[in-house]
Amino acid sequence: MCGIVGYIGYREAYPIIIKGLKRLEYRGYDSAGVMLYDGESIKLSKTKGKVSDLEEKAQKEITTNGTIGIGHTRWATHGVPNDVNSHPHVSNSGDLVIIHNGIIENYAPLKVELIKRGYSFSSDTDSEVLINLIEEVQKKENLKLGKAVQVALNQVVGAYAIAVFDKKNPNEIVAARLGSPLAIGIGEGEYFIASDASPFIEYTSNAVYLEDGEMANIRLHRPMKVRKIKDDSIVDPYIQELQMNLEQIEKGGYDHFMLKEIYEQPSVIKDTYRGRLHANEGIIQMAGVEDNLEKFLNAERIIIVACGTSWHAGLVAEYVIEEFARIPVEVEYASEFRYRNPIINSKDVVIAISQSGETADTMAAIKLAKEHGAFVFGVCNVVGSSISRESHAGAYTHAGPEIGVASTKAFTTQITVLTMIALRLAKAKGTLTHSEFHMYLQELEIIPEKVKEALETNDKTKEIAGVFKDSPNCLYLGRGYNFPVALEGALKLKEISYIHAEGYPAAEMKHGPIALIDELMPVIVIAPKQGHYDKIVSNIQEIKSRSGKIIAVVTKGDTQVRELADYVIEIPETSDALSPLITTIPLQLLSYHIAVMRGCNVDQPRNLAKSVTVE
Ligand code: GLU
Repeated sequence: MCGIVGYIGYREAYPIIIKGLKRLEYRGYDSAGVMLYDGESIKLSKTKGKVSDLEEKAQKEITTNGTIGIGHTRWATHGVPNDVNSHPHVSNSGDLVIIHNGIIENYAPLKVELIKRGYSFSSDTDSEVLINLIEEVQKKENLKLGKAVQVALNQVVGAYAIAVFDKKNPNEIVAARLGSPLAIGIGEGEYFIASDASPFIEYTSNAVYLEDGEMANIRLHRPMKVRKIKDDSIVDPYIQELQMNLEQIEKGGYDHFMLKEIYEQPSVIKDTYRGRLHANEGIIQMAGVEDNLEKFLNAERIIIVACGTSWHAGLVAEYVIEEFARIPVEVEYASEFRYRNPIINSKDVVIAISQSGETADTMAAIKLAKEHGAFVFGVCNVVGSSISRESHAGAYTHAGPEIGVASTKAFTTQITVLTMIALRLAKAKGTLTHSEFHMYLQELEIIPEKVKEALETNDKTKEIAGVFKDSPNCLYLGRGYNFPVALEGALKLKEISYIHAEGYPAAEMKHGPIALIDELMPVIVIAPKQGHYDKIVSNIQEIKSRSGKIIAVVTKGDTQVRELADYVIEIPETSDALSPLITTIPLQLLSYHIAVMRGCNVDQPRNLAKSVTVE
């Protein structure tokens, strides 16, 4: 996830690109870069940091003007954020320049092949591999840029939105997309290219949103040509008239970043397992785990340290890792762990989970674990963050920037990574049968589709939100894998709607919380078919006997709970172990709608900060 901007026309490109990048910074902001073509040569400036850092640097490095240019604000996936890894990337000949948003999954074998053919690489990015692949194709087959891009893209696996410039034919930019967004603004004698329409909204309201698998040849004073990357068939582009304002565009047309991020989950979960999970081949691999497999396999136990939502993801991981890989797991609040003189030794593997990678308590817990000789594995979203640097190894979640303070997509992508770790370890240890292992891989691969289906509960959750928005309290119950989901559901509601909520393991209700139940108490019960269904049905009966209002999250087609519950929210069926990825979706939507109806500031709830960098 990142922001890309391109301009080709008659105006000075530089200010358009810089302003556009600033508007796209919400998409990622660990580094930025710009390329300008001044009619003779390519001028390049790039740096680690924010667009404002780029501006400072570019002022010194780019002294000429140009009416063609491209720019990028990066959210690193391959290679730490530094000047060299920043985009744009230039091909070996110095002629071709690319900006890329996405992940080229098969970059490693392509890179090996290109090195054999004499190419060299200065960065660690997958994007530099792509631009040199395009160059190789162009040279070998003597192709024009558009054709070379097309041939090269047919060789890559992954996701991309790209803009490519060729100095040899400077009146053109070639753009293409698959899995990452790309909009083209069409003005009079000028074109704009961007991840969304915010960089060009004041120049033109005519835009073409490229569809997945399409590419565009954008040439000065010529109509734009759009074609399918795969079979070269020509597409008649649909020109939309934009009616959104700047803020609406940044939020992708959603009212809040939180809602946008909830809806991004199908695609970001895919980004999380992209290149790591190959269900058909029975392969699951993550570099950080592969390189340290022995450490994991020799571990006497795994200690998970985290805070807040990440701690809930850790709890899910405890269930999944113990079930799949049969390694004992303990889950600790980082803030408790760091101060309680815990027993840690060199046979322990510590998994530290943090969206931002800057959580102060988690960072301190890592340092403590390292002092005692434990191996530390980080699961972070922000590439190059403090925790990812402090850990011995790790895996990124690739969820893209999360702006809503209440975490949503970070949670599901953390669970995805942790489930993949559990599966990888199970494979190595032989603790799952061959068919179970394959079943889970297949199931994980189609989870994004099921998440998409679960998002269809939006209207239903809104309706339920309308009924319960004024409740002062709320109870969330779940069992097994869905106990942590109950905790997370309650946390979401507390965070953004300021309603007091508690999550409990459903069976614990009898040991206290049942005393709270009366006809005013909404009880949200997570009751999917797989899992401890009969037990949870009994729990629901207990609530009903005390006149509690039951809102049940059930598997599609469920009849038993439906008879007991006041409201049911139906979700698609999946295996018990993967169900948190689905059951959590309606709970996110429910808290969102309740918060909106209560007039709360959903994206920036009171008293909370996005990343907790103080203890
Ligand atoms: N994979 C590319 C990189 O790490 C692009 C990441 C992005 O979308 O910003 O540089």
